[in-house]
Amino acid sequence: MSQLSVLVIVEHDNQTIKSSTYHSITAAREILSIGGSLHLLVVGSQTAAVAELGSVIDGVEKVITIEAAVLESQLAEPMTRAIVAVAQNYSHLLFPATTFGKNIAPRVAATLGISQISDITQVIDAETFIRPIYAGNALATVQNNGNQVVITVRSSAFSGVTEIQDSAPIETVIVNDISQLSQLKSQSLTQVARAELSSAKIVISGGRGLSSGENFVLLEAIADKLGAAVGASRAAVDAGYVPNDYQVGQTGKIVAPDLYIAVGISGAIQHVAGMKESKVIVAINSDPEAPIFQVADYGIVGDLFEILPEFDQALA
Ligand SMILES: Cc1cc2nc3c(=O)[nH]c(=O)nc-3n(C[C@H](O)[C@H](O)[C@H](O)COP(=O)(O)OP(=O)(O)OC[C@H]3O[C@@H](n4cnc5c(N)ncnc54)[C@H](O)[C@@H]3O)c2cc1C
Repeated sequence: MSQLSVLVIVEHDNQTIKSSTYHSITAAREILSIGGSLHLLVVGSQTAAVAELGSVIDGVEKVITIEAAVLESQLAEPMTRAIVAVAQNYSHLLFPATTFGKNIAPRVAATLGISQISDITQVIDAETFIRPIYAGNALATVQNNGNQVVITVRSSAFSGVTEIQDSAPIETVIVNDISQLSQLKSQSLTQVARAELSSAKIVISGGRGLSSGENFVLLEAIADKLGAAVGASRAAVDAGYVPNDYQVGQTGKIVAPDLYIAVGISGAIQHVAGMKESKVIVAINSDPEAPIFQVADYGIVGDLFEILPEFDQALA
């Protein structure tokens, strides 16, 4: 690979930059540790505020914006068309390994006919990366042999860049013929006043042991006192106790908070894959043989319906 040039595709809501982008930029800076250029790409509609925010992130040399009304809801098809239009100038195209990135990155890689390396957790050098496989039970070291590569970055594995700089230039690129192959009819967003699951410092998650959605109030009371986000196992989500976006695990969100409290969760490998990088893990489960205790730093064997109210009172 000759001249290194990284393009980070910004995850945003047309107003502000999502935290995942800051983590991807840290990965980009590691790729560029021996030099090269770092640009951001903001694709959307009326994204001036997003571009401004991006231009002051330390290390960013240029922000490129591509705007069109058809890009407002950031559907994968028109987004791909826009990204591919500027992609040829870059050796690395970085996306966060979030729903946003996972939706678009493979289409970009396929359209360009290049490889994708998914969900990297470590940068060895500009061509070599580590990524978890088998639900996090093994780590693969993957080397790119092509001239260009698409990469998705696991946010929890890289700290978010916080330093700022003087504004970098912002360049608008016009892309014609961005056709509207699909249309967003509606979206329902979960409104939570609490911390966001993927970036929270403390997460308290409930499983099937909670027995019902109503019983999640026991977790919510504690979460509010700790400033924590509330998560769930897939069994709790499938049972309809809480919405899908609460799910932690292989097919849910990957979290790595300072403290993860698993309540009434057995510790299936698919759940553990999403939380085992947490700094301190506490498990509350009535079954002393539950596998969650194998990954927990602290375990409480007992009935959650007795322990949670006591815990809540102690915090109060
Ligand atoms: C392809 C695939 C992907 C998957 N992805 C995910 C994923 O992303 N995330 C995920 O979580 N799962 C995922 N799963 C499902 C996973 O295999 C488990 O089925 C699920 O995690 C179990 O959820 P649970 O621990 O809440 O339920 P259970 O396994 O039923 O465990 C409930 C636990 O609660 C305890 N309990 C019960 N009552 C009490 C009480 N009163 N007090 C204290 N403890 C109590 C029990 O002892 C038990 O350990 C996936 C599965 C597959 C096949």
